[in-house]
Amino acid sequence: MGTVTLDNLRKEFDNGQIVAVDDVSLDVANGEFITVVGPSGCGKSTTLRMLAGLESPTSGRITIDDEDVTDVHARRRDVAMVFQNYALYPHKTVRQNMAFGLRMSTDLSKEERNERVRETAEMMGIEDLLDDKPNELSGGQKQRVALGRAIVREPDVFLFDEPLSNLDAKLRTTMRTEIQRLQNDLATTSIYVTHDQEEAMTMGDRIVILKDGELQQVGKPKDVYENP
Ligand code: ADP
Ligand code: ADP
Repeated sequence: MGTVTLDNLRKEFDNGQIVAVDDVSLDVANGEFITVVGPSGCGKSTTLRMLAGLESPTSGRITIDDEDVTDVHARRRDVAMVFQNYALYPHKTVRQNMAFGLRMSTDLSKEERNERVRETAEMMGIEDLLDDKPNELSGGQKQRVALGRAIVREPDVFLFDEPLSNLDAKLRTTMRTEIQRLQNDLATTSIYVTHDQEEAMTMGDRIVILKDGELQQVGKPKDVYENP
């Protein structure tokens, strides 16, 4: 399951002088792929960071499967985030990077964890990289590892923060297709932030357009495209 609800979500900085997210309400269905698009500074990252529990809202509510996870200390938050800069642990191998989150978030035995890491690495085509450190990998390989690290946990919700913007155009297209394929196979609810309108249009079941922290439009790509 992975139903996500944002209810009048608001985030202010600097004692209210900056309103990064301005009373955003949104329902995301289980298994849906939502893209969030808008120019730099419109509140995309702040929204994701609140969903990930990295930042507390000023007001409003976040629920996942009817459980209130608004507070950063909310106990259950079965989400995995994929970052633009990959955020891999530099001193750990690919295997350790992938297994680490698994150790924190599940009660699997060591053998089961190893098996899950191996299966996921195969799915992502990174099984030959398991003993490498991040600095031995190309950008595309790092992003595959970052995706693998999220997938291996089998979370209810994936959060993507501009995961492809550090890759060259060709690789970006390949990875787009790959993420869509994974999304189809895994049917995990996904919230995907990008400043690239074409990416948002091609990848999302629905698109959310943010402007100055406000939700400006929500709809299927075709409807948003035809009624800008
Ligand atoms: P985006 O991800 O769309 O580029 P952000 O969510 O990063 O937008 O930022 C939204 C607004 O909030 C911007 O004006 C940004 O400068 C501001 N902001 C984000 N984080 C902070 C912070 N920690 N302190 C002050 N202002 C912030
Ligand atoms: P993005 O463009 O992906 O939103 P940024 O580089 O804007 O990322 O933000 C990275 C970090 O800096 C975040 O933790 C964000 O909260 C913080 N940040 C962004 N804008 C400001 C700001 N004006 N003042 C303080 N911190 C900020």
